[in-house]
Amino acid sequence: MNEWIIRVWGTRGGGCAPRKEYMVYGGNTSCFSVEIGNEVIVFDAGTGLTALGKELAGRGVKNINILLSHPHLDHIAGLTDFAPLSDPSSKVVIWGRAGLDRDISRMIGPPIWPVSISQYSAEAVFKSVGEGETFSPVGGVKVVTMNASHPGGSFIYKLECGGKKLVYALDNEYAGNNVELAKFAYGADLMIWDASFAPGKEIGGWGHSTWAQGVELGRTAYAGRVLMTHFSKDMNDELLTAMENEAGERCIFAKEGMVLTI
Ligand SMILES: [Zn+2]
Ligand SMILES: [Zn+2]
Repeated sequence: MNEWIIRVWGTRGGGCAPRKEYMVYGGNTSCFSVEIGNEVIVFDAGTGLTALGKELAGRGVKNINILLSHPHLDHIAGLTDFAPLSDPSSKVVIWGRAGLDRDISRMIGPPIWPVSISQYSAEAVFKSVGEGETFSPVGGVKVVTMNASHPGGSFIYKLECGGKKLVYALDNEYAGNNVELAKFAYGADLMIWDASFAPGKEIGGWGHSTWAQGVELGRTAYAGRVLMTHFSKDMNDELLTAMENEAGERCIFAKEGMVLTI
């Protein structure tokens, strides 16, 4: 059975942090890629998508599926500079909730941006999915959605293929759905988790969580490992290193350029 290769391209939530004291964990916003055989599935299109696009273009990957959690800026800003969108022989399918294309066109398109997604030279297709829906972006890979607890809504995604399971759970407030999410994520080999707040500094209603809540959820869900990400602009390398040392070995703090396998 194929090994899945998970690469980290963007670890920040809320906004970029292009400063030298943030360079160990990275300064770009949410973006992860999952390679299953020859297929590439991308979670979110934050500014980390730019580096991923160059890498995919460099090795001639033409078919790309992007699963968008929601249209907040830190999850879509990388679409303006995604190399495969400028390649007429590429096909980019963007999955998300109904109305996502309309929401994105408000940011990517005149007068905010010179061109809309449909005016890039690649074939770009939006496909809408509903809450709890199961779909297959590429052969053999089953994806299921769950609503996150987040202002304006967001999707949590679960990927399953060949007995392996990965859950992508940004942006999500632990208190809003932890029982339901533990069932949804049950037995995941890897759960990618919203660790926006430092423990004890969480703000109710903002739709985010802490690494400690991710550890708790991972334990309840019998998840293999939990990958912390979506770090706020207040979390510099020193603070994140201290948190990572405290969090324990089944808990990994995402760093740009990191590669994991399951
Ligand atoms: Zn976010
Ligand atoms: Zn958000």
